[in-house]
Amino acid sequence: MSYDVIVIGSGPGGYVAAIRCAQLGLKTACVEGRETLGGTCLNVGCIPSKALLHASHQLHEAQHNFSKMGLKSEKISVDWDQMQTYKNEVITGNTKGIEFLFKKNKIDWIKGWAKIPSQGNVKVNDKTYETKNIIIASGSEPSSLPGLEIDEKIIVSSTGALELKKIPEKMVIIGAGVIGLELGSVYSRLGSDVTVLEYLDNITPGLDSEVQKSFQHILKRQGIKFVMGAAVKSAICKKNKAHVLYQKNSDESEHSIEADIVLVATGRKPFTNGLGIKELGIAVSEKGYIEIDNGWKTSANGIYAIGDAVLGPMLAHKAEDEGIAAAEIIAGKHGHVNYSIIPGVIYTSPEVASVGKTEDELKSSKQNYKVGKFMFLGNGRAKANFAADGFVKILADAETDRILGAHIIGPAAGDLIHELCMAMEFGAAAQDIALTCHAHPTYSEAIREAALACGDGPIHA
Ligand code: NAD
Repeated sequence: MSYDVIVIGSGPGGYVAAIRCAQLGLKTACVEGRETLGGTCLNVGCIPSKALLHASHQLHEAQHNFSKMGLKSEKISVDWDQMQTYKNEVITGNTKGIEFLFKKNKIDWIKGWAKIPSQGNVKVNDKTYETKNIIIASGSEPSSLPGLEIDEKIIVSSTGALELKKIPEKMVIIGAGVIGLELGSVYSRLGSDVTVLEYLDNITPGLDSEVQKSFQHILKRQGIKFVMGAAVKSAICKKNKAHVLYQKNSDESEHSIEADIVLVATGRKPFTNGLGIKELGIAVSEKGYIEIDNGWKTSANGIYAIGDAVLGPMLAHKAEDEGIAAAEIIAGKHGHVNYSIIPGVIYTSPEVASVGKTEDELKSSKQNYKVGKFMFLGNGRAKANFAADGFVKILADAETDRILGAHIIGPAAGDLIHELCMAMEFGAAAQDIALTCHAHPTYSEAIREAALACGDGPIHA
């Protein structure tokens, strides 16, 4: 068999690249070793975690807000097995959807783990396929800590945390990044006593520091405990319990905390095992990222790499955009990704979303900027929906009014952020948003109010 393109990996980067290649008339195959298509995101990442976040959010609403709205029912309880069934059905629905799209676009799914024995060849099991181009979209895997062995039973990665046998009484989470806080929110709402141990003094590294502070304050109010400046050294399991040892950065004192489940959420690393990239002489960074040029080409002819396997934010949508761009370049068109306008979203409740520069970055680059901020407390829709925590913050150039960054903590922040992404793509000024009619009553009005706050001032504050 010979192809124009073989994509290795069927996560959001790989399957999207394969579909675009096929749409552009290239004979395409995609190699996937898992039982189902969709990669980490659909099988053990974004999608199943969103199902559990949704279910546990509904529980929170029923427990805290239903009676306020005059909705009465028997005391609500959790059927964990059914919640797992719901989550698994969501996964299956999505992975089958990719299978359908592959068939529709005449993409061959080669089942198995790929190796690249030489340029222009991909070996899967005992069969070698010829191809003009290869796109490596092999993704990432959880990175653990020395002194900690993930057994996916008591000491788990995000994968194990999505399919625990029961809801733990006491859960310790190592790392206050996106994974730790999303899954911490799930189990905290389901009744677990959740403690997060974080090495740094702030949660969610890289986020605007005002958002970090407000976010941590809200999560604490929701019942999540934080130990900041805590360097986790090791964890030992004894009689179905884990004992996590950590050192406080401030005074180097040693502490221990017991848990039924320990979630290790200290980051992810590129997954390129077994591909044979070193033997091919493909350049790889010290941390294992495949090195690429501006056209997603590796140092080997005809071999491209995208997604978590290359440097940049480990986000499904970044991988998708790179997949489309690489496909277009292979087809002789122009592929492009605007790395300065990639939104980041944390799907807690409230959600957190950001795009562009943080205020901290603007300060340190000595850029002349202004801030327009609006609290959801002044938004009628948010108040009606018990969702008035948080704010919209727009950062604009002090002279030109051009939007440089935007940060939202609040209801539907992950959807709202795209109005600002679009505005930035068009080089809009804050005033352009302020002059745009926004429907009432919507959460979006908070964006317009923040834009007004960059100029003559918001109406509802
Ligand atoms: P992360 O890098 O976001 O956070 C890891 C945290 O662990 C950091 O705050 C770090 O300081 C802390 N840490 C590291 N070593 C420690 C130690 N010894 N003791 C205490 N704390 C320690 O990593 P993550 O949350 O595991 O996520 C991995 C990747 O997956 C990220 O790139 C993330 O963007 C991506 N992801 C994104 C989403 C989303 O977009 N909603 C969801 C899940 C994962």
